[in-house]
Amino acid sequence: MPHHTPLISTIVVGLVLAFILGAVAHRIRISPLVGYLLAGVLVGPFTPGYVADQGLANELAEIGVILLMFGVGLHFSLKDLLSVKAIAIPGAIAQIAVATLLGMGLAWALGWGIAAGFVFGLALSVASTVVLLRALQERRLIETERGRIAVGWLIVEDLAMVLTLVLLPPIADLLKTSSSDPLMLLEPLVITLGKVVAFMALMLIVGRRLIPWILHFVAHTGSRELFRLSVLSIALGVAYGAAVLFGVSFALGAFFAGMMMAESELSHRAASESLPLRDAFAVLFFVSVGMLFDPTIVFRDFGPVLATFLIIVVGKSLAALAIVRLFRHKRATALTIAASLAQIGEFSFILAGLGVDLALLPERGRDLILAGAILSILVNPVLFAILDRRLAKTADPLPPPVDTPTADTPAAAMEVKPRTMTDLSGHVVLVGHGRVGQFVSAKLQRSGTPFLVIETNDGKTSELRQSGIETVTGNAADPEVAASANIAGARCLLVAIPDAFEGGQVVEQARKINPGLPIIARSHSDAEAEHLLKYGASTVVLGEQEVAKAMLGAISDRTAPGNAAADVPPVDEPPGTSASGPAPQPT
Ligand code: AMP
Repeated sequence: MPHHTPLISTIVVGLVLAFILGAVAHRIRISPLVGYLLAGVLVGPFTPGYVADQGLANELAEIGVILLMFGVGLHFSLKDLLSVKAIAIPGAIAQIAVATLLGMGLAWALGWGIAAGFVFGLALSVASTVVLLRALQERRLIETERGRIAVGWLIVEDLAMVLTLVLLPPIADLLKTSSSDPLMLLEPLVITLGKVVAFMALMLIVGRRLIPWILHFVAHTGSRELFRLSVLSIALGVAYGAAVLFGVSFALGAFFAGMMMAESELSHRAASESLPLRDAFAVLFFVSVGMLFDPTIVFRDFGPVLATFLIIVVGKSLAALAIVRLFRHKRATALTIAASLAQIGEFSFILAGLGVDLALLPERGRDLILAGAILSILVNPVLFAILDRRLAKTADPLPPPVDTPTADTPAAAMEVKPRTMTDLSGHVVLVGHGRVGQFVSAKLQRSGTPFLVIETNDGKTSELRQSGIETVTGNAADPEVAASANIAGARCLLVAIPDAFEGGQVVEQARKINPGLPIIARSHSDAEAEHLLKYGASTVVLGEQEVAKAMLGAISDRTAPGNAAADVPPVDEPPGTSASGPAPQPT
């Protein structure tokens, strides 16, 4: 191993091992996250063989956090954030209080002082951004009401941690000098709050105009490379500036950068440009967490490790569940939030490290926090799998809240609408109501063809419902969603989403339910078309080829009546795009 290139070896070994173990995990049907964590344990200092650079791995992981939060900001508007404040603020504060008290209880049982218990409890109370966002993204929940509440909750926790990290050193001084002047705390508190407010004001007043302007300016240069660079520079630059100049966390800075960029119509493109890097760095985050884990602690300190784990996974979840139910949200929402928060991660490590440095927390406390974090991250995908199964079975039989008509009630009620099956049969099922789907649905509506739309974005589905179009909210690859759209009794399925991997899953699922169904899917390349056909599509429409045909058609129209079409080279049918199943007759 060349030791003079620690950055390269950390990235390469981390990514390659994570890929191999992630693929194995996927193959044996467990979450790839487990594979990434295991890769981290293998390159960590507690297992024999190569040891990656922990400091570098942590910094790379921070880039993952920045890009993830930036991506979330891109899908969020200020309105979305404010719409969940009624639950996110009290919910997060109450949950932090409960988890801290539980942690203090355990610390007391272990014979530690109040200050140690306080730091320990706080570290157990704050969830990991990366783990939460990955879980929500996997299920396409970010843009649902539940997702918005979870992200709003996360942001409140994030702010609480920013304050804690700033206040901890003066608290330590206070305890050590045993001076009882609480004014010592007031000054850093006011300064920190002032900085957070100044950062937000700057973003809302200047960033909101400047960031979309930069993006449009760069788009006009016509250089894809410069556009990508501008997106990355804004995400990383704002996050870094927020941290260095305003003492705000990287994550919060990146979230605001994304939210301001969402003001531009180019945000769709910005999101897809930052996606590959985001995924790679998020993987490195899990590797860096795995590196911290000393597996022997589970045997050495079994009882306290178990208690820490239970506080995180059971104590925190029950608290979140109770709080969300208290606010009269649906059980599905409460369960999703509880599962999302039943883990801890990066903030806890930072807090534990600071606690040990300030001699507030014993080293054993940090080890317990690390063990609790790893175990809770490992178990989190399992919790979500149980949740998926449970929600599929019960479809939340509780009555909807009627006496609290808050801004978020209609959407909250809608997203957990029991999955009753549509009454339609012999209908067309359209998956995705974006750039392509909206044209298809307009035509189907004009011609009076019975159809319904499956969409993951609940904002779009509520608009569609208002205009009288039947919809099912959710991922079309989800068997339950497919069943409620009555794919078994449909006349044809149109998969109008751009991602061929996801399209393949939708097609595979539908094909299982209805072997004779004509399925028409959308693709951008021959390879994608082949993939979709392999999974059971009857016809694949290649977007780019259709544009070419339309262009050629336009030339022949202009040069008619001399039949210039003869001069135009014929467009070859690409392999695999010919229909092999019955063609649909939607009109
Ligand atoms: P566009 O990228 O403009 O063609 O839009 C695609 C639309 O499909 C978006 O509105 C997405 O929310 C939606 N979409 C993407 N994947 C799925 C899926 N698996 N199930 C349902 N809707 C989806």
